[in-house]
Amino acid sequence: MSSITEYFSGLFTGIRSLMGGMSVTWKELWTKKVTQQYPENRDTLVISDRFRAELVMPHDENNEHACTSCGICQLNCPNGTINITSEMIETAEGKKKKILSKYSWDLGMCTFCNLCVITCPSDAIKFNNTFENAVFTRSKLIQTLNKEGSKLREKKKETLAPKGE
Ligand code: SF4
Ligand code: SF4
Repeated sequence: MSSITEYFSGLFTGIRSLMGGMSVTWKELWTKKVTQQYPENRDTLVISDRFRAELVMPHDENNEHACTSCGICQLNCPNGTINITSEMIETAEGKKKKILSKYSWDLGMCTFCNLCVITCPSDAIKFNNTFENAVFTRSKLIQTLNKEGSKLREKKKETLAPKGE
């Protein structure tokens, strides 16, 4: 092959390659964009309900929760993220009862494995998806999940229908 033929062959190969690349660029220019600008999009941002961001203990309008302070979640946590403090009290009927004093959870240690939630027999804890939890001090990541003055929700006694009805 003469040097002139080689020159033009190389030139056309280069142009064809360039056109191939430019066609991809041109196509992408008109494709719907999925990348979002955060935090500018904060008002419209949708985080999946299944996203595990923060462990919480739901309380009802009477400031009551469902945690019996059994410690199962603490035992199942693989890395000591949960620390439960409880105390024994005597009920009006004179029975001893364990109640929750403090439910401590360290967001900085948590691996978000969800073992604590799925092993809780009372459905007392769950993960929410509020993900903006950045702080400047690690100690601020340790949270108390039971609210001030809260107590265990009493289970409603089921009313049994008299036999024969
Ligand atoms: S959150 Fe559930 S598993 Fe953990 S101590 Fe309370 S009741 Fe027990
Ligand atoms: S999600 Fe896993 S690591 Fe985090 S507190 Fe629960 S059991 Fe522990």
